[in-house]
Amino acid sequence: MVNYISTRGGIAPQSFTDVLLQGLAPDGGLYIPETWPQFDLDEVRGLAGLPYAEVAKYVISPFVQNDIASPVLETMLSDVYSDRFAHSAVAPLVQISPNIWVMELFHGPTLAFKDYALQLLGRLFDHVLEERGERVTIVGATSGDTGSAAIEACKGCKNIDIFILHPEGRTSDVQRRQMTTIDAPNVHNIALKGTFDDCQALVKSMFGDESFRQNINMSAVNSINWARIMAQIVYYVSASLALGGGSRKVSFAVPTGNFGNIYAAYAARKMGLPIKRLIIGSNRNDILTRFFETGTMKAGEVEPSLSPSMDIQISSNFERYLCDLLDRDTTSITTLMESFKTKGVFNIGADYMNKASAEFDARRCDDKQTQMLMKACYAETGYILDPHTAVGLFAGMQVREDPSVPLVALGCAHPAKFPDAVEAAIGIRPELPPHLADLYDRKEHMTTLDNDLAKVQDFIKSNI
Ligand SMILES: *Cc1c(COP(=O)(O)O)cnc(C)c1O
Repeated sequence: MVNYISTRGGIAPQSFTDVLLQGLAPDGGLYIPETWPQFDLDEVRGLAGLPYAEVAKYVISPFVQNDIASPVLETMLSDVYSDRFAHSAVAPLVQISPNIWVMELFHGPTLAFKDYALQLLGRLFDHVLEERGERVTIVGATSGDTGSAAIEACKGCKNIDIFILHPEGRTSDVQRRQMTTIDAPNVHNIALKGTFDDCQALVKSMFGDESFRQNINMSAVNSINWARIMAQIVYYVSASLALGGGSRKVSFAVPTGNFGNIYAAYAARKMGLPIKRLIIGSNRNDILTRFFETGTMKAGEVEPSLSPSMDIQISSNFERYLCDLLDRDTTSITTLMESFKTKGVFNIGADYMNKASAEFDARRCDDKQTQMLMKACYAETGYILDPHTAVGLFAGMQVREDPSVPLVALGCAHPAKFPDAVEAAIGIRPELPPHLADLYDRKEHMTTLDNDLAKVQDFIKSNI
């Protein structure tokens, strides 16, 4: 059983449900477990062959403490991982080369790995709110992926209203339709006349408007919520069980943006899962790869790439790793993060860099390399990679030295989610899977609004 502390050290240890509902810690830090729970590897090995929901229960239980009764958690996990995913293995492995595998994390409702955590997060939120007799309004901005996964996760929740802002005309058709074709009274899509940055700025202003925030009990399900990391640890254990019964070391290659997914792999290793290499793949927005090369974290301009879900320059979850790297010296973390906020840069010394380099490898993969790998993989195996998956796989293949260690590349999105990039690489337009085959026939629900804070706030207030 664990409690949670902030990476900035400014608050007393918190329980799971408090951390779940708060997201960000009040001192501006991110929540991490006070100590890492340890796997009993005999127990882990005993999970081989069991359903994903059982593995999830074993991994997740120490993190939720007694905040959620065990039978309630079990029901939730089996609802999510037995019903909401279109493959009975939930996170199946597909072999594409001798001892190289893609872990397909796109069998959820919105075809990207974010479903694996958000489907559970929606239910956890709803349950805790119900117990407390509370109701929240989730407001978020999206350039595509996160919005649809959040809407899918919240659409059936009794105690949540969700408003997602997307920039009008600037998301792909598939991404927009995945959000706007959901017909539920608590789901509200706002097509904003502006850019993604405008959407984000409005959400930030709304959070900063104290009376509005309290008035609607505003909340977020963003990528820094601890419960999302927790849920993502499960598929690393699942892959380890499938490839070596939990006994044999496996390497993971992860296309990385906000550092959430790769941090979950790191957490699995800290808990004792045998992992050989943790490999970060970045696209041309390579802030993380540059950090691992130089010891300097320096933000640059965001540039569009073939893998848009990784087009970011600030990897929010990195602060969680930094906290362990600096031996939980929360004073130093606070100084580094302040420096990053004001100057856009921070440095760490050579000793810490040696430690970091022993724990992660990082490689970049530009658009041309991404396309070449998608093409080569299709030619050699008939398997279609989405561009994000290709970035991770590329990095993994660069780093790989011992072919006897299985390499698992995380398949973060279904290729049909990025049909233009796939068609440009291999000349074939991938088809949507059966549960979304009629996406283009479904009716869309959205409201177009001007880029005007007061108008958006009025709309939200009159629709909750
Ligand atoms: C969100 C996302 C990523 C980046 O994941 P992080 O956890 O932010 O590192 C990569 N690929 C796809 C398809 C995504 O949706």
